[in-house]
Amino acid sequence: MLSVPDRACYNVGAMTIHQETKHKVDLLSLTLPEMEGWLRERGEEPYRARQLYSWLYRQLATDFATMSNLPRGLRQKLEEEACIGPVVVRSEQHSKDDRTRKILLELADGKLIEAVLMLYPPLGESSARATVCVSSQAGCAFGCTFCATGQMGFDRHLSAGEIVAQVLHFARELRADPWRAAGLPGSKTIDHITNIVLMGMGEPLHNYDNLLKALRILNSAEGFQLGARHMTVSTVGLVPAIRRLSQEPLQVNLAISLHAPSDELRGQTMPINRKYPLKELLAACQDYITATGRQVTFEYVLLAGVNDTPAHAQQLAELLTPLKQFAHVNCIPVNATGADYRPPGPDAIRAFRSVLFERGVSNSVRAERGDDIAAACGQLRTRFEERRKQKALAPQG
Ligand code: SF4
Repeated sequence: MLSVPDRACYNVGAMTIHQETKHKVDLLSLTLPEMEGWLRERGEEPYRARQLYSWLYRQLATDFATMSNLPRGLRQKLEEEACIGPVVVRSEQHSKDDRTRKILLELADGKLIEAVLMLYPPLGESSARATVCVSSQAGCAFGCTFCATGQMGFDRHLSAGEIVAQVLHFARELRADPWRAAGLPGSKTIDHITNIVLMGMGEPLHNYDNLLKALRILNSAEGFQLGARHMTVSTVGLVPAIRRLSQEPLQVNLAISLHAPSDELRGQTMPINRKYPLKELLAACQDYITATGRQVTFEYVLLAGVNDTPAHAQQLAELLTPLKQFAHVNCIPVNATGADYRPPGPDAIRAFRSVLFERGVSNSVRAERGDDIAAACGQLRTRFEERRKQKALAPQG
């Protein structure tokens, strides 16, 4: 349940965004060559694109007026014809420990999506991380029963710019107010985004072209410079798209939302399993591993009494054994705010994992976080829309 109030709602009307951006090009949707072409068409020197890219992705600028090395005429043109990620924060929540920050963004056409910033203190050899969980679609067509987004249905794909805008929002926030892990003396402040995971609303590989374009923009050496190995694409298991991804030069990480060790069980919660059953999915993963030499992470949401017994762990180990050290299982106790499912207790989680360890399957458990702000995807939007409906139905005083 929510234990902190929504805060920092920005007071910009949706109609304002619609009217202002309707005929404008979103610069965050353009790769550098596209931006060069766009400027050339307007009689500008293509090298201006590099300057503009630097303002957008290094200075994290949101206002053309601040772009001091661009001529006044160009700034004026940009003001009239372009915009920078036309999204508005409708609601924002921070967990009590301030390590999970969730925003609800309204897009230019009024659609609502969520994005989450997760801050991790340094652990052992690894330094602190700031990871953005990014949405790739408004709504989702795949209807997984444990997922709030899945119950909304599909609205539309996000543009590359709308995907990039989510990351830049949090990048600006951290730049303005760097974070340091409280109670860890000596830990350094972190002022930039270190990782992104495509695990927000929607199925990223269903929006393949826009997704890949957004990742290339964020990866660009002239721009945001986020390393491909710091990007994780999580899929419900779209087999042809997994094969396509394996041929991309961009070396992003692949995660599969597995959640069940048998077709029978998976089909009950994930309708996609009827189209691409486990045999086909695992074959695509094997091909991906062969083509890339990279490990695949299997996300496994633990649902008490549904898929969390040692027998399920045995089945899971059997399924993944052929992938050898290239398979890693990430056990995720289901978010307690979900209406129909409960997370297993610590003993059940330990028993599940020890079966995997005994069978040589590498695994970890995702630390629970953000429960107090309903961090599972789709929940903030659902709440916001319920509130909006209630407001609309309430008698006007
Ligand atoms: S888990 Fe992912 S693929 Fe399944 S319904 Fe939710 S957003 Fe869609």
